[in-house]
Amino acid sequence: MRYYILFGPPGAGKGTHAAALREKYNLCHLSTGELLRAEIAAGTELGIEAKKLIDKGCLVPDSVVEGMIESKFNSVTDVDGFLLDGFPRTLGQAEDLDNILAKRGESVTAVLSLMISDDLVKRRILHRAAIEGRADDASEETINNRIRTYHNQTEPLIDYYKNQAKYHEVDAGADTTEENRSRVINLFESVKK
Ligand code: AMP
Repeated sequence: MRYYILFGPPGAGKGTHAAALREKYNLCHLSTGELLRAEIAAGTELGIEAKKLIDKGCLVPDSVVEGMIESKFNSVTDVDGFLLDGFPRTLGQAEDLDNILAKRGESVTAVLSLMISDDLVKRRILHRAAIEGRADDASEETINNRIRTYHNQTEPLIDYYKNQAKYHEVDAGADTTEENRSRVINLFESVKK
């Protein structure tokens, strides 16, 4: 089984391009943000607790997202690999992911990093708010906090994966979705095993 990580700040296009990669390469797309939003929509206790943090632009506890990811690894088998979107987001999650995979005799295959500037993050998220109506996209304060959270807690993963020679970056800031998609697919072609 292959384990690919789609990495990048909020609004980099991870979810958008994951859909194309999933179809083309028979992957299971696992977005922790989407899994959490499904819990919120279902009104579960986990969802109610997660919503309080998500609406402030904070991360939910590592153990919550790790439990969701591990249960998907256990239940989804009819694919060639997993495409992780929005996970891991902290060094603790990255280390725990390595341990979860090691227990299965597996490891992260490659990290595909979609890079855009903070300025473009803000413009993209505000645009998405108008289309998808996500509460955590609508407030500028929440967006700024998500950008800060990304720099403080998630960016250190770049060095973590560079040290494992698994980090591959592409500029995902082109003007059109088509151009960005073709850049991401080219990157995937160059790193897939
Ligand atoms: P996303 O859809 O990836 O932008 O995630 C939306 C929100 O869900 C994030 O701002 C976090 O509050 C929460 N979230 C998603 N993935 C994680 C994760 N791996 N660790 C902690 N919180 C997460």
